[in-house]
Amino acid sequence: MRGATVTGLRCAKCGAEHSVKDARFTCPDCGPDGILDVLYDYDEVAKHISRETLAGSQENSHWRYLPLLPVESMASTPRPRTGWTPLYHLPGHLGLSGLHIKDDSGNPTASLKDRATSVALARARDEGVTAVAAASTGNAGCSLAGFSAAEGLPCYIFVPKTAPRPKVAQLLVYGATVFAVDGSYDDAFDLAMEAIEKFGWYNRCCAVNPYLVEGKKTVAFEICEQLGFRAPDRVFVPVGDGCIMSGTYKGFAEFERLGLIDRVPELIGVQAEGASPVKAAFECGGDVVPCEANTCADSIAVGHPRNWRKAVKGVGASGGRMMTVTDDEIIGAIASLARSTGIFGEPAGVTAYAGLVKAVAEGAVGTDETIAVLMTGSGLKDTESAMRSVGEPVSVGCSIADVERELAARA
Ligand SMILES: *Cc1c(COP(=O)(O)O)cnc(C)c1O
Ligand SMILES: [Zn+2]
Repeated sequence: MRGATVTGLRCAKCGAEHSVKDARFTCPDCGPDGILDVLYDYDEVAKHISRETLAGSQENSHWRYLPLLPVESMASTPRPRTGWTPLYHLPGHLGLSGLHIKDDSGNPTASLKDRATSVALARARDEGVTAVAAASTGNAGCSLAGFSAAEGLPCYIFVPKTAPRPKVAQLLVYGATVFAVDGSYDDAFDLAMEAIEKFGWYNRCCAVNPYLVEGKKTVAFEICEQLGFRAPDRVFVPVGDGCIMSGTYKGFAEFERLGLIDRVPELIGVQAEGASPVKAAFECGGDVVPCEANTCADSIAVGHPRNWRKAVKGVGASGGRMMTVTDDEIIGAIASLARSTGIFGEPAGVTAYAGLVKAVAEGAVGTDETIAVLMTGSGLKDTESAMRSVGEPVSVGCSIADVERELAARA
């Protein structure tokens, strides 16, 4: 299979095109605000990707889309098996005939972030990088730490000190050097950028490194393929920095361009009410106004989103919209999703689902629409929030009489 048909990079702010050599990260003219978009030679891609080639593919990972990824060959790809996660059809759930949940908790480090990290590490290998780093609310760091361990690369992670303990444990278990920053994710981001610049580490920040969103777009490719090359009517996507949304839009747009689907689905971006600057920017049509983030959904607790411009453009181009859910709705969705489907998500992981529940209650969704909901991270990553969603277990002594009594009390 042939990879890397990249022709250049286009700035999402000023629109200027740059060669791969001239722009390593953001636009040389616009600086950190000039996030770049990777361009491909789609005529060349079309020679290597079709319904037939995909149907015959034995590659049970997102590398089945190699010609649409900025990676030269399979030889560069890291070992942990990423992507090609299940898309569960749940007919009748929430009264909808065509609800599908894309469960990305089965990725190597248990979140969708692995899609981006796998591309970062493939490129890091090609570029001969000797150390990697990222700022993270938790999952991007865990993902980078896991893949770096597999690749034998030193890894430096900056997280807010409030990151959930299971994520901190995961980071440390993989052997990363973890800086718990006394501040918000936005503070951790600024410090990481300074350190990366100073120490020359490879930057795995989706908003800065243009190649990472490319990994995230594979979730859209998989949804299309798993639906038999049909686009859903609507897709619900959680939004923090906006990289997943940017990638999801790009994935659907590329499959449309290649004639593999006939239209881009309506994309519904879901933010937590206490951290919704992307929704505000989408609705006012202006630039994002950074705010203080206040939500239990730590993975989307982003007050200063870095990839908002691409996300807002994507939602608009799809004919979709942005919405918010409250923390109570998110916490409630953890248990309601798990109990009705067996899928256990962290707060940000179930945020898109909470958005769907709200949209259904508002009558904003037709009962026969084909809907896909992204479930982006495992519930085991934040057990404290999970416990807030449920009660305590039943305390009993070691006697069957205790069990009998408790069962009777619940009958
Ligand atoms: C990172 C993350 C998100 C949000 O993705 P963005 O690209 O920051 O918008 C949502 N859910 C989970 C579980 C995440 O780790
Ligand atoms: Zn620019």
